[in-house]
Amino acid sequence: MTLFGTQGINAAGHLTIGGCDTVELAERFGTPLYVVDEWLVRDNCRRYLGAFRAVLPEVEIAYAGKALLTTAIARLMDQEGMALDTASAGELYTALQAGFPPERIKLHGNFKKPDLLRMALETGVGRIVVDSLEELHDLSQIAAEMGRTADILIRVAPGIKAHTHHAIQTGQEDTKFGLGLRCGSAREGTRLALELPNLTLHGFHAHIGSQILDTDAFKHATAAMVDFLADMRDEFGFAARQLDLGGGLGIRYQEDDIPPTIEELAQAVGTALKDACAARDFPVPELILEPGRSIVGEAGTTLYTVGVVKHIPGVRTYVSVDGGLSDNPRPVMYDAVYRALLANRANEAPTHELVRISGAHCETDTLIPEIALPEPAPGDILAVLGTGAYNHAMASNYNRFSRPAMVLVADGQADLIYARESLADLVRQDLMPERLA
Ligand SMILES: *Cc1c(COP(=O)(O)O)cnc(C)c1O
Repeated sequence: MTLFGTQGINAAGHLTIGGCDTVELAERFGTPLYVVDEWLVRDNCRRYLGAFRAVLPEVEIAYAGKALLTTAIARLMDQEGMALDTASAGELYTALQAGFPPERIKLHGNFKKPDLLRMALETGVGRIVVDSLEELHDLSQIAAEMGRTADILIRVAPGIKAHTHHAIQTGQEDTKFGLGLRCGSAREGTRLALELPNLTLHGFHAHIGSQILDTDAFKHATAAMVDFLADMRDEFGFAARQLDLGGGLGIRYQEDDIPPTIEELAQAVGTALKDACAARDFPVPELILEPGRSIVGEAGTTLYTVGVVKHIPGVRTYVSVDGGLSDNPRPVMYDAVYRALLANRANEAPTHELVRISGAHCETDTLIPEIALPEPAPGDILAVLGTGAYNHAMASNYNRFSRPAMVLVADGQADLIYARESLADLVRQDLMPERLA
């Protein structure tokens, strides 16, 4: 079984992460528990910056905060010299609370309310990524009212289908995101952005999807976008200085998911960008990338306690753990499949039986449909791997479960970066009208 980052197995046969024994972490902090491998997060940032700067003159790597964002995660990104993508008032607020420099923050979203646009202008975010013609008009007007100029990129839908789940496919023509390349909206947006007051257009953005496991779609998107940049120069005399190709690099959820390495992606995109620019005699723009999952996904592990093991003769064995849909909705939403092991018996060989891991919610919240484990028993600690991205970020209070705690581990030290929600937290927003008193 391939482990991630600093994961290992100690003399007691326990899974360790960042030099911490996960069985001890489960005892100390309770379960479910998200564990984040600080070294792996930092290493991924450094590899992105190093690999892309080795092949291209100007590169910015913006961590996509929606994958996992707390103030401590934002601080880590700042320390590593990353930029940061936000897509809501909450994400932007979190980044600013962490002291993240606003000029390295971008704001995304297909529908940003006027208040959010005002907040972005007021706090001085570096780029607003405009998603529609309406937004161009609104932003121009709001910026004028505030006596500001908005620095923008325009999001383009390049009409490229990445091979991934339809819910996270975003670059095709039939999409709510961005302005279409083929239908002429992207051209119209460019014309408007150059004409409307209080807007400074710096370049274009495209994000083709997520959990992408080959470099082809990235190469096609790069070529299509450079063609568009050159067309806009030819038509309007505007030569974009920034090209943002979004995020999307996949991670190893299942043993046979083999994503390109960050270095392979850098080679592929760097070459595609330079070739496409040469073909159109276009100066190589600054490349911006927005990885989320590939920065934090493999760095996250969720620890659960096994509670009930139910054998249904001739059918299957259900192993229930003390979390599920509320801390990881991805299996139910996307049929996502995760790998897991028993953290307290990490050296034991699995049996031949395939068991089903279920959550504790009042529905069939299968966490892992079929997995071979060393016969699980109540009290075992199940470690689900690769849960760093879109788990805490998508967690809910369904069934009034409290969101799990999250610890950042490194060099044998574990620090809480998200406190487990208490029962009191769960009723904090509830209000009792006078007439029910
Ligand atoms: C979701 C998203 C990302 C990050 O995608 P990953 O697959 O997590 O790398 C980047 N940019 C935009 C605009 C996104 O919506």
